[in-house]
Amino acid sequence: MTQMTVIAASGAALPQEPFLGRHLIGGEWRESLSGKAFDRHSPAHGVLASRSALGGREDAEAAIRAARASFDSGIWSRTSSKTRATVLLKAADLIEANSERIALIETLESGKPITQARGEASGAADLWRYAASLARTMHGDSHNTLGPDMLGVVVKEPIGVVSIITPWNFPFWILGQKLPFALAAGCSCVVKPSEMTPSSTVIMGELLIEAGLPAGVVNIVLGYGPDVGGTMTTDAEVDMVTFTGSTAVGKAISAAASATLKKVALELGGKNPQVIFPDADMESAADAVTFGVYFNAGECCNSGSRIIVHEDVADDLITRVVALSRKVAFGDPLDPATQVGAIITPQHLGKIDTYVRDAEKAGAEVALGGARLSVPGLSGDFYQPTVVRGVTPGMAIAREEVFGPVLSVLTFRTIEEALALTNDAAYGLSAGVWSENVNTCLEFSRRAQAGTVWTNTWMDGFPELTFGGMKQSGQGRENGRYGLDEFLEVKTLVMRIGKTRTPWVRQG
Ligand code: NAD
Repeated sequence: MTQMTVIAASGAALPQEPFLGRHLIGGEWRESLSGKAFDRHSPAHGVLASRSALGGREDAEAAIRAARASFDSGIWSRTSSKTRATVLLKAADLIEANSERIALIETLESGKPITQARGEASGAADLWRYAASLARTMHGDSHNTLGPDMLGVVVKEPIGVVSIITPWNFPFWILGQKLPFALAAGCSCVVKPSEMTPSSTVIMGELLIEAGLPAGVVNIVLGYGPDVGGTMTTDAEVDMVTFTGSTAVGKAISAAASATLKKVALELGGKNPQVIFPDADMESAADAVTFGVYFNAGECCNSGSRIIVHEDVADDLITRVVALSRKVAFGDPLDPATQVGAIITPQHLGKIDTYVRDAEKAGAEVALGGARLSVPGLSGDFYQPTVVRGVTPGMAIAREEVFGPVLSVLTFRTIEEALALTNDAAYGLSAGVWSENVNTCLEFSRRAQAGTVWTNTWMDGFPELTFGGMKQSGQGRENGRYGLDEFLEVKTLVMRIGKTRTPWVRQG
């Protein structure tokens, strides 16, 4: 194996007992009606991380009924924004107080590094605080110029019962991009975390009870997509589904939800390009490319997995990225020195490897990695930092989400070519441009088909800045003011002042 930085098993204490997860329905913790449970083993250590109640259709229906009853009662949907914000702020404080517990289970279930999981917990607290600020400042419009006898007021109301379905790659963070915004709007929710990473969502349920959220406003059902998620997308009592996950499941959800015409918000996959012009700060660009592809082991919707570099600087960039890749610490997620942890399942590792093998067969060159990584003392699933050059636009590795630590490098000669390659994708989640010329950056940013365009940086994000995808990367937006608007209905009140209305029916 070429030289890489591998962090061996740290010997950190592993839990003796699994985290036990139950459904939260109407304010009560419940086992499944079937009495069944499912297990999640740590992908890095093989230890039994959690045992969760295995929900089915009836459990999901009970949770939906509880959410519907709480919404219709007005206990949260008609409460003041001050009350909502107070609960959200308390929840944020509790997340911080429990961040170590959240981070540990997140690391065990997902295989991500513990330092990153801690960062996600504190970042999620910030999302809850930001959503509290939106609760206090949301407002509608007034129209006072419709004539002396007319007043129009546009009010915003919570959309109703919201199904929240989340993936395994950033379970607690993505929950924070949805749940506090739905609660700030006044909605009641049913949440289904991924079957791979259910436990941090259960902890969030505990914290919300402690924060004083009324029973039934947030309900949690654990289990698999078709049974629990399927019910949450088809039940007539649900008003909206917000989903983060794969484009294939997003399409299925959209189709299933159409029978009852629910609102559907989707945050889906990406094949995100970073375009590097010859006048870029190459040191900075190479570091950002390295970060963008290996962060969260590349299991990231925002993975910068598709580099489009000017052919004059391609060799220089690849040499730099390969050298940096060797320094990135892959290995035991429980060691604070680790930057990249395990792959979520052995099946997924096989899929990542198939993309690399197929690209090789099609004529691409593996400049680094391209195989399973062995980590001394751990039997889990790890993949080497991998750089594939000589990739052409038609290859699957250039078009599909690999969702692993694998960089594809394509080249261009003109800005028109760079834009054509950027936009030649089914996805449109994010893109990046690297150049010291502001005109090049602005030209690229305005013409790139992506929900977010980063200039001379990658993956910086803030609760204030809206996030979401174009094309098959999704519909709807999260974070920022638009993130709140997704959960609001808009109602128009038209009011006449005095008896000035001219009768429509002719008199006499
Ligand atoms: P997934 O689509 O397999 O599963 C996501 C969730 O949907 C899980 O909770 C799963 O149980 C549930 N589900 C599965 N089938 C369902 C069905 N028929 N009905 C209802 N629910 C169902 O995705 P994943 O593998 O957990 O996550 C990885 C994917 O998520 C990647 O494609 C990634 O790009 C995407 N993602 C997107 C964003 C974004 O913001 N755009 C963020 C993170 C992840």
